[in-house]
Amino acid sequence: MEDKRELLKNPVHSIYIPIGLILFGTWIFSWEYMPYSIAFIVIVCTVKYYEAYKNRSSLHKTIWQDFELMDKTIIAPMTSIYRFKLRRDDEVLDIPTGHHVACCFNINGKDEIRYYSPISNQFDSGFFDILVKHYEHGVVTRRLAQINEGQTVKFRGPFGKLDYKPNMARELVLIAGGTGITPILQVITRIITNPDDHTKIKLIFGNETEKDILLKSEIDEIASKYPDFEVYYTVTHPTEGWTGGSGYVDRAMLEKQLPKANEGNKVFICGPPEMKESLKGITEEMGWESENVFCF
Ligand SMILES: Cc1cc2nc3c(=O)[nH]c(=O)nc-3n(C[C@H](O)[C@H](O)[C@H](O)COP(=O)(O)OP(=O)(O)OC[C@H]3O[C@@H](n4cnc5c(N)ncnc54)[C@H](O)[C@@H]3O)c2cc1C
Repeated sequence: MEDKRELLKNPVHSIYIPIGLILFGTWIFSWEYMPYSIAFIVIVCTVKYYEAYKNRSSLHKTIWQDFELMDKTIIAPMTSIYRFKLRRDDEVLDIPTGHHVACCFNINGKDEIRYYSPISNQFDSGFFDILVKHYEHGVVTRRLAQINEGQTVKFRGPFGKLDYKPNMARELVLIAGGTGITPILQVITRIITNPDDHTKIKLIFGNETEKDILLKSEIDEIASKYPDFEVYYTVTHPTEGWTGGSGYVDRAMLEKQLPKANEGNKVFICGPPEMKESLKGITEEMGWESENVFCF
């Protein structure tokens, strides 16, 4: 289906070139028809621009837009999923894979901006979800927790560096720490919902305790349904009976879990800055070329 929003983003192919061709054709055929051609062009352009404007994205890259909170679900002691309404019921927040949105609260006269990677997918229409971990002294997350359904929050975007292309890796290892799972989940969803993307995925998900593993049942369900998706959990404080990995993601763990360096394989990492730094260094020592390792 034609995406009417594209017209506003890139009018060259759908407006300027057809107009040029009509005018050129009229000039070749007969000058007399020029007023009719111009009238035709004006009508068609007005209709097209109106449709494109009506179907424009709720999210804007540079202008803050208000989004109404539809629902808030507590999924762990300090973590909630917030659902925000899009302008139209059939609109999807179609942002590039692994990209994030900026959220802004004016607190004591100062704009406080924080970033969140939506976890809803390209098929969820009418809303988008963000998963937020709350911090006791967190400036923005404390304010977010006080928002009630029907109230609005300012967002803009999308932003991000990842340029994901289907089949860009033979095997893709995704390493997440805590809330770092959010952009990683976007990548997983994008791959498993595209029948033409044959990438084999391995998720290594590190957390403090088993209870801190966000969206574990959803991830386990994906693992049970998709043979090309495998998950390895590791926790720093395992309880008795824990069968996954224990401790931080380190070189010994990566040596067991990663496929052969390079050879069409890639690694994406998202977690706290220290985790990203350390894993970037380790992958380098293990021979991974920097172009095959991406840190969110
Ligand atoms: C690209 C990007 C995407 C992000 N996506 C998400 C997301 O999907 N979900 C999500 O929950 N967060 C995400 N974050 C983090 C988020 O932007 C905020 O930093 C976080 O919500 C804390 O904001 P705050 O104002 O409440 O805390 P702040 O007031 O900024 O910090 C208060 C205190 O909380 C602690 N703290 C804050 N952030 C962290 C952290 N990440 N790890 C450990 N301690 C911390 C620190 O001790 C800090 O002193 C993302 C960040 C980036 C850069």
